Amino acid sequence: MTAIAIIGAGFSGTLLALHLLRRTPPPVRVVLIERQNRFAQGPAYATGNASHLLNVPAGRMSAFHDRPGDFFEWLAKQPDAPLDLGPGSFAPRRQFGAYIRQLLHEELKRPGGAGRLELVRGDVAAIEAEPRGPLSLCIGTERRIEADLAVLAIGNFPPEPPTIADPAFYDTPLYRPDPWSGDALDGLDPDAPVLLIGTGLTMVDTVTSLEDAGHRGPIHALSRRGLTPLCHAGPAAPARRPGAAIPDRLVDCLRMLRVEARRAASGGSTWQAALDELRPFGRDLWQNLSPTDRTRFLRHLRPWWDVHRHRLAPDVSCRIDAARARGQLRIHAGRIEGITAEADRALLTYRPRGTDEKRCLSIARVVNCAGPACDFDRIPHPLVRRLLGDGMVRPDPHRLGLDVTPSGALKDRSGAISRQLFAVGPVTKGAFWEMTAVPDIRRQCELIAAQLAMLV
Ligand SMILES: Cc1cc2nc3c(=O)[nH]c(=O)nc-3n(C[C@H](O)[C@H](O)[C@H](O)COP(=O)(O)OP(=O)(O)OC[C@H]3O[C@@H](n4cnc5c(N)ncnc54)[C@H](O)[C@@H]3O)c2cc1C
Repeated sequence: MTAIAIIGAGFSGTLLALHLLRRTPPPVRVVLIERQNRFAQGPAYATGNASHLLNVPAGRMSAFHDRPGDFFEWLAKQPDAPLDLGPGSFAPRRQFGAYIRQLLHEELKRPGGAGRLELVRGDVAAIEAEPRGPLSLCIGTERRIEADLAVLAIGNFPPEPPTIADPAFYDTPLYRPDPWSGDALDGLDPDAPVLLIGTGLTMVDTVTSLEDAGHRGPIHALSRRGLTPLCHAGPAAPARRPGAAIPDRLVDCLRMLRVEARRAASGGSTWQAALDELRPFGRDLWQNLSPTDRTRFLRHLRPWWDVHRHRLAPDVSCRIDAARARGQLRIHAGRIEGITAEADRALLTYRPRGTDEKRCLSIARVVNCAGPACDFDRIPHPLVRRLLGDGMVRPDPHRLGLDVTPSGALKDRSGAISRQLFAVGPVTKGAFWEMTAVPDIRRQCELIAAQLAMLV
């Protein structure tokens, strides 16, 4: 009997399992393996904080491309649904987690569902491959699961710490490396100054958590450019659909985007709508750029792309603006030179952007909010280390994830394409660039499920 194993039951792994069950005939089994106690959540949707809102409107968060209203309709049926709920509303992320969990539970209750879908709680530490045999997934030292095909859906990793002269600081309790762990703000004096490394979406989450916990002290957030995520526009007319083809040179793409954003704004729409119209072409656009242009984009434009593309729900944006206006949240642009621990304080030295001067801040807690780490050569994840060591996978050339083909097959150290090992979700960003948000991952899960169904 054919078995397909999925390693990781965040959004990507769970959704892939649901699509595989629909696309494959009954003898095929799907084994969904998760190392945490929680299935169908991952760090993004495990947050218990109701102020952590989705950054995509409910009307675009359905798990199924062909049922676009599915999440919004589910939300509307919840007993605590707000009266003004609409497809443009931004729901708490934990509700999206509950929606995905319910889809998984419904699948298990379907006639024959529990027999074909097996949930396994365990940390896959290695995958062993025999020539022409099934894959063997090692969970701890005792358990092995055999599978004909396996998919890595191992998701996002905590951020890397910035390089500093004496990294000993990172071993002190003043530093919290994982902004998504429940304890990043535990035991913090509400009047103490805090430093958040990074000024993107994770910084925003942490600021709302601090506010909700009644934090009164200063909150410093620092990144190289000090750019913060922009806000979604309210409902706007769609940007006028331009007929022009999308160019293959970065400089021409940028010019096109600027023209379309200006045209949208002057025609009663918004730059946000103009950018969103390019979304369905995101992966084609990325794959059509030359490797040099991709590198150029990552080096020079990425921070601007991120703040325009991954935007804030209006309510969250208002809270951040208010925290800045009252002087509690201070955004700094600069480079960290060093952080040292002195008794119960961290001493940060940084160089403000565009200057030679050095400034210092005394801080009670440093939380790394720099965004998920993606250079697999440096990620201390045991399975990743083992797969790289065994030469079964390799990082992609842009150090955004693992090297995969357009249909998600992993490439080994020599570039050969695996017929058994695949990947889905943020680990495939190198091939697709935009593989972070639900609408993109949903589309990818559908395509990979179709591809795997042809192999069983
Ligand atoms: C804080 C945050 C907020 C976000 N907000 C939004 C949003 O509002 N809207 C949106 O569209 N997108 C959002 N995203 C994007 C998000 O990345 C995707 O939507 C999605 O959650 C990624 O899912 P995933 O399953 O690939 O990864 P993850 O959610 O990271 O799940 C990976 C899972 O794999 C498990 N795992 C890892 N290694 C092993 C192993 N060896 N053995 C067994 N299990 C393993 C992990 O425990 C984890 O549960 C957000 C992301 C983050 C981090």
